[in-house]
Amino acid sequence: MIDVAANLARVRRQVDEACAAAGRDPGEVRLLPVSKTHPPELLQAAYDAGVRLLGENRVQEAAEKADHFADRPDLRWAMIGHLQTNKARQVAAFADEFHALDSLKIARALHKGLHDLDRSLDVFVQVNSSGEAQKSGLAPGEVADVVAGLAELPTLRVRGLMTVAVQQGVDGAGEREVAACFERMVELRESLPEHLCGRELSMGMSGDLALAIAHGATTVRVGQAVFGARETR
Ligand SMILES: *Cc1c(COP(=O)(O)O)cnc(C)c1O
Repeated sequence: MIDVAANLARVRRQVDEACAAAGRDPGEVRLLPVSKTHPPELLQAAYDAGVRLLGENRVQEAAEKADHFADRPDLRWAMIGHLQTNKARQVAAFADEFHALDSLKIARALHKGLHDLDRSLDVFVQVNSSGEAQKSGLAPGEVADVVAGLAELPTLRVRGLMTVAVQQGVDGAGEREVAACFERMVELRESLPEHLCGRELSMGMSGDLALAIAHGATTVRVGQAVFGARETR
């Protein structure tokens, strides 16, 4: 079986090293382990190693896992995948963070559900920083209007922006193209008022976390390097 505790320790070391190399305080960078597709035993191993926030991208799977771990209320859930409006109420009921906010329509649906349940949700606005057609997220030019609209939805606390950079090796993309995605995020953040958009950047995954940290990531979402390879689906 995968040694989740050892993997977590190794990834935390990578985060610390990337912070040291970038002259950043490791306390500024949060590791969000992404447990999608993996069984409860591996999530339990992460919990036993001290993890209290897990990332999931499918609502049904996440809701079932939240249910499974309902007797550990200190374990919290971050939804990191694109969400359909008809699933918003479900997410409002169990999630603490949502990293893939990409429309005011979904924001309003979440707000309604949260308001009814007297809950709130930390959100990150997802940006398509690579311009790839298959990627979710707002175009950079659309973000200002959306964050302005979010100010009217008090159950949503906007903490910052989120992106999935181009993957190195895809369409000949190298480190420079990946870095360009992260640089676009920093520029975009600087162009937006802090009181509307927050200052956090959720970016960096197993393959590019050091580069993301060098560019100012404050949350890295790490799946494979913690839980091992996923079945492709
Ligand atoms: C799956 C996923 C991750 C984690 O990816 P790894 O390559 O397994 O580290 C991060 N962010 C999002 C949005 C994901 O869907």
